[in-house]
Amino acid sequence: MEDETLYTCTTLDRTVPLDEFRRDLVDVPRFSGYCQDCPNYGRFWSCPPFWFDPMTLWQRYDALRLYARKLVFTKDRLFPGERRAFEATELPKIKGDLARELLAMEAEAPGSLALFAGKCDLCPACARTEGKPCRMPERMRYSIEALGGDCGGALEKYFGETLQWSAGQRLPEQIILLGGLLLKNE
Ligand code: SF4
Repeated sequence: MEDETLYTCTTLDRTVPLDEFRRDLVDVPRFSGYCQDCPNYGRFWSCPPFWFDPMTLWQRYDALRLYARKLVFTKDRLFPGERRAFEATELPKIKGDLARELLAMEAEAPGSLALFAGKCDLCPACARTEGKPCRMPERMRYSIEALGGDCGGALEKYFGETLQWSAGQRLPEQIILLGGLLLKNE
């Protein structure tokens, strides 16, 4: 249950044509370049580098349901101690709930594929760091950005929202966790 003294939580939900999304908001070389600067690069099976071309995955589907949680902080963006507690407990729970919801939506839409918000957090430490295969390939999913999708651009284009970043030790005024569901026409 959300902590209403700390933040309010709403859901953003919109289905967009995938040919338009691919044309305007997918750029695999650009985003995999950004991924190389991330400490998670090559350390999670849900993150680049991949053993397949992400474009082949984008080309298999017809539409993308963008599905996000928007958290707006009611306190003045939390003091450092509160921020650490929020990031250690509340945020993983919100991400986990969103991932479970996306997997349930996938199960209800034949031929669809869920996209998580950010890296896969199903295990405390990803098996990739040990050079072992994914422990839960049936539940692990990629994220929009890991596949070369522009999350900031998608939030702006389809929801009029802007991605915000932390300033110093404070959180931004709001955080948006963007996941999705790749869909096939019936
Ligand atoms: S399920 Fe576990 S092993 Fe597989 S990608 Fe996720 S964290 Fe890594």
